Amino acid sequence: MKLHPVLVLDRTYAPVSIFSHKKAFILDLLNKCEVLQYYESVKLSSPTMDYPAPLVIRIPVLMRHWQSSAPTRRAVFIRDNFTCAFCGKIVKDSEVTVDHIVPKSRGGKWEWTNLVTCCSECNQKKGSKTPEEAGMVLLYKPKKPSGFQIALNRWRNKLNREFLEVLATYGVNIKKEAI
Ligand SMILES: [Zn+2]
Repeated sequence: MKLHPVLVLDRTYAPVSIFSHKKAFILDLLNKCEVLQYYESVKLSSPTMDYPAPLVIRIPVLMRHWQSSAPTRRAVFIRDNFTCAFCGKIVKDSEVTVDHIVPKSRGGKWEWTNLVTCCSECNQKKGSKTPEEAGMVLLYKPKKPSGFQIALNRWRNKLNREFLEVLATYGVNIKKEAI
């Protein structure tokens, strides 16, 4: 079954996450959210009836400044859209690596601001040097992403026109959110 993205707002109407329509539907059944808007273009079917899929829901908690937790390899790749921080190449799943900007051997930590997505060639070239020592330049400065940015990047290729339009009405332009 195809999953449709649902924009999740917190108590203050700030966009905080993206759920699948299935998850939103269950939250609605359990009275854990308020559905603010339904898809016009997406109808879900049960044996007895068709009903619209939720497009925007609001959850009664405060998450405006919700930060993503400690980085995982996967979350670093998602934050960086699988783009090598040194050569800008989109890296395939099988060849993607995480680089410690300040090498581990020099006390560089496993934290958002010290980790970037790296292709295997750049990673080999850099070895256990700093970018300066290796004569390499970072194309972007890695930051700790918000939970919403991670959700956005995770769903990036599955966002449909109706969703993007509604996202814009909540002040989120997908190009500006790109890292
Ligand atoms: Zn590279």
